[in-house]
Amino acid sequence: MDISRKEFFKKSLYSLGEAITTVSGALKESEPERPTIRDTADFVPGGEENMRAVASNERCLAKNCGCFACFERCELQAITVVMGEGIRIDETRCTGCGTCEYVCPVTPKAVRLQPRKGLEPPIQKA
Ligand code: SF4
Ligand code: SF4
Repeated sequence: MDISRKEFFKKSLYSLGEAITTVSGALKESEPERPTIRDTADFVPGGEENMRAVASNERCLAKNCGCFACFERCELQAITVVMGEGIRIDETRCTGCGTCEYVCPVTPKAVRLQPRKGLEPPIQKA
Protein backbone atom coordinates (compact mmCIF):
# COMPACT_ATOMS: atom_id res chain seq x y z
CA MET A 1 0.00 0.00 0.00
CA ASP A 2 1.42 3.35 -1.02
CA ILE A 3 0.87 6.35 1.18
CA SER A 4 2.05 9.87 0.61
CA ARG A 5 4.80 11.38 2.71
CA LYS A 6 2.27 13.82 4.17
CA GLU A 7 -0.06 10.97 5.10
CA PHE A 8 2.86 9.06 6.64
CA PHE A 9 3.80 11.97 8.94
CA LYS A 10 0.18 12.57 9.83
CA LYS A 11 -0.27 8.95 10.91
CA SER A 12 3.05 8.98 12.80
CA LEU A 13 2.09 12.11 14.71
CA TYR A 14 -1.31 10.63 15.54
CA SER A 15 0.32 7.43 16.89
CA LEU A 16 2.79 9.47 18.93
CA GLY A 17 -0.05 11.52 20.42
CA GLU A 18 -1.91 8.36 21.37
CA ALA A 19 1.22 6.90 23.01
CA ILE A 20 1.80 10.08 25.06
CA THR A 21 -1.83 10.09 26.23
CA THR A 22 -1.58 6.44 27.29
CA VAL A 23 1.70 6.93 29.18
CA SER A 24 0.53 10.10 30.97
CA GLY A 25 -2.73 8.32 31.94
CA ALA A 26 -0.77 5.39 33.36
CA LEU A 27 1.52 7.74 35.30
CA LYS A 28 -1.47 9.59 36.75
CA GLU A 29 -3.04 6.31 37.91
CA SER A 30 0.18 5.22 39.61
CA GLU A 31 0.58 8.52 41.54
CA PRO A 32 0.16 7.91 45.28
CA GLU A 33 -2.80 9.64 46.86
CA ARG A 34 -1.78 12.80 48.74
CA PRO A 35 -2.63 12.62 52.44
CA THR A 36 -5.02 15.18 53.90
CA ILE A 37 -3.15 17.47 56.29
CA ARG A 38 -5.01 19.23 59.11
CA ASP A 39 -5.10 23.01 59.10
CA THR A 40 -3.12 24.42 62.04
CA ALA A 41 -5.06 27.74 62.15
CA ASP A 42 -6.96 26.71 65.30
CA PHE A 43 -4.14 24.72 66.90
CA VAL A 44 -2.54 26.13 70.04
CA PRO A 45 1.03 24.75 70.42
CA GLY A 46 1.74 23.23 73.83
CA GLY A 47 5.43 23.86 74.47
CA GLU A 48 5.77 21.33 77.28
CA GLU A 49 9.34 21.20 78.56
CA ASN A 50 9.02 17.66 79.87
CA MET A 51 7.73 16.31 76.55
CA ARG A 52 9.43 15.64 73.22
CA ALA A 53 8.35 14.28 69.85
CA VAL A 54 9.22 10.69 68.97
CA ALA A 55 8.88 9.21 65.48
CA SER A 56 7.48 5.81 64.56
CA ASN A 57 9.12 5.57 61.16
CA GLU A 58 7.52 2.25 60.27
CA ARG A 59 4.33 4.28 59.70
CA CYS A 60 5.89 7.51 58.39
CA LEU A 61 5.11 8.40 54.78
CA ALA A 62 8.20 10.63 54.42
CA LYS A 63 10.46 7.68 53.67
CA ASN A 64 8.72 7.40 50.28
CA CYS A 65 8.31 11.18 49.85
CA GLY A 66 4.59 10.80 50.59
CA CYS A 67 4.37 13.45 53.31
CA PHE A 68 6.45 16.27 54.77
CA ALA A 69 3.75 17.85 56.94
CA CYS A 70 5.59 17.81 60.27
CA PHE A 71 8.91 18.78 58.68
CA GLU A 72 7.29 21.80 57.00
CA ARG A 73 5.47 22.98 60.14
CA CYS A 74 8.06 22.50 62.87
CA GLU A 75 9.04 26.09 63.65
CA LEU A 76 12.15 24.98 65.56
CA GLN A 77 13.52 23.01 62.58
CA ALA A 78 13.84 20.03 64.87
CA ILE A 79 12.74 17.59 62.16
CA THR A 80 14.76 16.32 59.21
CA VAL A 81 13.61 13.94 56.51
CA VAL A 82 15.74 10.92 55.71
CA MET A 83 14.83 9.28 52.41
CA GLY A 84 14.09 5.60 52.78
CA GLU A 85 13.92 5.94 56.57
CA GLY A 86 11.36 8.59 57.57
CA ILE A 87 12.05 11.48 59.92
CA ARG A 88 14.62 12.24 62.60
CA ILE A 89 13.91 14.56 65.50
CA ASP A 90 16.59 16.65 67.18
CA GLU A 91 15.68 16.38 70.86
CA THR A 92 17.84 19.38 71.70
CA ARG A 93 15.59 21.59 69.58
CA CYS A 94 12.19 20.01 70.21
CA THR A 95 10.06 21.99 72.68
CA GLY A 96 7.21 19.47 72.75
CA CYS A 97 4.82 21.92 71.10
CA GLY A 98 2.83 19.05 69.55
CA THR A 99 2.38 20.60 66.10
CA CYS A 100 3.96 17.59 64.38
CA GLU A 101 1.64 15.16 66.15
CA TYR A 102 -1.37 17.36 65.35
CA VAL A 103 -0.71 17.50 61.59
CA CYS A 104 0.45 13.90 61.09
CA PRO A 105 -2.16 12.34 58.75
CA VAL A 106 -1.36 8.72 59.63
CA THR A 107 -3.52 6.63 61.99
CA PRO A 108 -2.08 5.76 64.46
CA LYS A 109 0.19 8.83 64.35
CA ALA A 110 3.74 8.38 63.05
CA VAL A 111 5.01 11.05 65.45
CA ARG A 112 3.87 11.42 69.07
CA LEU A 113 4.75 13.39 72.16
CA GLN A 114 6.36 11.37 74.94
CA PRO A 115 7.90 12.27 78.32
CA ARG A 116 11.58 13.23 78.16
CA LYS A 117 12.60 10.82 80.92
CA GLY A 118 15.85 12.32 82.15
CA LEU A 119 16.78 14.02 78.88
CA GLU A 120 17.98 17.60 78.93
CA PRO A 121 15.24 20.19 78.29
CA PRO A 122 15.35 21.87 74.86
CA ILE A 123 17.75 24.72 74.17
CA GLN A 124 15.81 27.98 74.65
CA LYS A 125 15.63 30.38 71.72
CA ALA A 126 17.30 33.77 72.31
S1 SF4 B 1 6.89 18.84 69.05
FE1 SF4 B 1 7.05 20.85 68.03
S2 SF4 B 1 9.24 21.39 68.22
FE2 SF4 B 1 9.07 19.19 68.61
S3 SF4 B 1 9.45 18.24 66.65
FE3 SF4 B 1 7.22 18.45 66.86
S4 SF4 B 1 6.75 20.40 65.86
FE4 SF4 B 1 8.96 20.38 66.23
S1 SF4 C 1 3.50 14.17 59.44
FE1 SF4 C 1 3.55 11.98 60.03
S2 SF4 C 1 3.60 10.83 58.09
FE2 SF4 C 1 4.08 12.98 57.62
S3 SF4 C 1 6.32 13.06 57.65
FE3 SF4 C 1 5.63 13.62 59.70
S4 SF4 C 1 5.59 11.71 60.88
FE4 SF4 C 1 5.73 11.16 58.71
